[in-house]
Parts: sequence; C-alpha cells; structure tokens
Amino acid sequence: MPTVFAHVYVGSSLGVLVPPKVLPRRYLFLGSALAACPDLDTIGLFLGIPYASLLGHRGLSHSLPFALLFAWMVTIFVRRRRNEPPGFRILFSYLFLCIASHGILDAFTNGGHGIGFWSPFSNHRYFFPVTPIQVSPISPSKFFSQWGVLALWSEFKFIVLPTTVIVLCAKLAQRLQNRFQTGHKNP
Ligand SMILES: [Zn+2]
Repeated sequence: MPTVFAHVYVGSSLGVLVPPKVLPRRYLFLGSALAACPDLDTIGLFLGIPYASLLGHRGLSHSLPFALLFAWMVTIFVRRRRNEPPGFRILFSYLFLCIASHGILDAFTNGGHGIGFWSPFSNHRYFFPVTPIQVSPISPSKFFSQWGVLALWSEFKFIVLPTTVIVLCAKLAQRLQNRFQTGHKNP
C-alpha cells in the first residue's frame, strides 16, 4: 500500500478539481478520510484473517463494488434533509472516486498481494502492468526505517508530483475559461 498521506493527498486533490460552489471545501475532509479508509482492513491481518481471503487486506474493501456501495451509503447519510450543495450526484461521484482511487494507487505498488477490484464477485487479485510505487510497510514499527523513507520518496515522485501538476493545470484551465466567458459577457 502507499502510505495514508498519499491516499489523503489524492482524495483532497480530487475535490479541489471541483469548484467550491459545487463541492464546498469541508467535504474534502470526508473524501480524504474515505480515500484512506480501505486500509482499515489491515486490522484483519492482526486478527488472523488471511491476506488472500475475501475480507483480507486489499480484498473486498479495495474493490470497485465496495466503493460504489460505500459511497452511496455515505452520500445518503450525509445528504439527508439537506437542500444545499453538493448535489447527490456530485457528492456520490466525488466519494466514489476517492474510495476507488485507493485500490487504483495500490495496484501501482511493487509489493504485497494484488487488488481484488471485482470482489466479492471475483477474488482474483490485480496489479497494473507497471508498478513503480514502492510498497509501504504495513507494520508501523517498520515504517521508521529506510524502507519507509524509500516509500515516501517514491510516493512523492509518482503520486504527489503528478497529482499536483494535474490539479494546477486543471485550475489554470478553469481560470482561463472563466476569464474567457466573463470577457464574452462584458465586451
Ligand atoms: Zn490499501
């Protein structure tokens, strides 16, 4: 797995792509937390749940069906009795992408088991053809080691940097588009 920092960074960055009028910024905390939460399944490793099983690490909680269902449930819970932004579709899409981004990032790592993208319908585990991200240690004690430093450096290169460039380009494009539209309205 990448570290919790990388998942949180990608979750909040996905939200920054949406204008604040559409997705108020306080929802970025929720999205970031959900982007990191699939790794709560590591608790199962300490409880004796086998890594390769349905409920094992990188299994059901990292799957796309889980992301759909969990995003839908949280959206319904958060949006109950609300008439203000974000709309259901925006919030659901954002939360789904946050949760789904977790397994996608994990599938780019170079260690552990693959990701059960289609769990519970299939327990086949997948990696992407390229796996440049150094897998992070699961045990907190091993994190404070050369392995942990390597994982953080690799995440900076392959997650933080590209994500930041994408967000900056998207924000620049939005700004140019707004300026263009304003210019058309006020010639
Ligand atoms: Zn994970």
